Amino acid sequence: MRSPRECVYCHSALKGRTDKKYCCERCKSRNNYFLKKNRNADVLNIIEGRLKNNRDILSTLYLRGNHRVSKKELISKGFDFEFYTTIRGENLYNLSFYCYDYGYALTGEGDVKIFRFKALSV
Ligand SMILES: [Zn+2]
Repeated sequence: MRSPRECVYCHSALKGRTDKKYCCERCKSRNNYFLKKNRNADVLNIIEGRLKNNRDILSTLYLRGNHRVSKKELISKGFDFEFYTTIRGENLYNLSFYCYDYGYALTGEGDVKIFRFKALSV
């Protein structure tokens, strides 16, 4: 555990005010930079996790032959409709949403049609 009298960033001994956290402006700046970088990494990890989870749900259903499911079923499996990687479609009434190489489209009956983006199939 860090001694209360050493720099938060470089751990060198602090002199002066008792509430001082950094030995110099450069350590303060570097520490703030790394804190911000870590916060950004956390946000990106959360988004990437949701996208991968969506893709896993779509691919599992698709590979089991379930190419058409209810929206409720997807939600019950943890699918998050807020996260997708690409939208394709010729107009607003005919949109397909992709989570990487798997996509879905909402049908007129409230179901979800699942498909695979063939151009990316390996
Ligand atoms: Zn320092």
